[in-house]
Amino acid sequence: MIKLTKRQDEILQIVKQNGPITGKEIAEKLSLSRAALRPDLAILTMSGNLDARPRVGYFFNNNFSLKQKAEEFIHQKVSEFKAHPIVVEKSTTVYDAIVQLFLEDVGTLYAVDTSGHLAGVISRKDLLRAALGNKKLHELPVSVIMTRMPNIITIDPDESLLEAAKRMINYHIDSLPVVKEMENEKNTYLLLGRITKTTITRAYVEFMEAKSE
Ligand code: ADP
Repeated sequence: MIKLTKRQDEILQIVKQNGPITGKEIAEKLSLSRAALRPDLAILTMSGNLDARPRVGYFFNNNFSLKQKAEEFIHQKVSEFKAHPIVVEKSTTVYDAIVQLFLEDVGTLYAVDTSGHLAGVISRKDLLRAALGNKKLHELPVSVIMTRMPNIITIDPDESLLEAAKRMINYHIDSLPVVKEMENEKNTYLLLGRITKTTITRAYVEFMEAKSE
């Protein structure tokens, strides 16, 4: 995607508001000669920002701006969208974890060890399965039922929202812990946040609403 100059942006705005408009009319609005304008018009037409029709003039290409926005959307970084992670100690009981799930209104909890590093993922289904087994929920620690390291699928804050969406789909999971791996300690992660399918849906709605403005 090429970065437009200030003048090219001005031309785009003029065509957006007045199109179809001839090169001569654009030049008049900018108090420039047609010759001075020609290179910018060529760039805007070749890049697909504008469409031109002989004897009619220049049009704003709506599809182009949509494509550009969609591209911006999918390349947005996880770090800009991550939510606060809801965390429990891995020694927490299954009973307390269920209470926490309701209180925090989330679908997944993350378990940490005593030094605060990511130790496990506890989803709704993990808790339901434990409850079905008739185990002593007040005594059973979540560490027994959670999905634990090194099986946890994580995402880095610098990765894209598209990458996060793909990973959740590929692994059939509802959320991803956003983590930074500790230097010199493989598979030891600092928990920074979470990305869920709701995060992606909300970002999509915001994008569609901004697009139609
Ligand atoms: P639900 O239990 O509500 O269907 P998920 O689809 O996210 O929620 O979880 C399904 C299973 O995948 C659970 O056993 C859970 O522990 C595990 N899981 C969830 N998120 C992750 C993750 N990021 N990495 C590895 N396993 C996960």
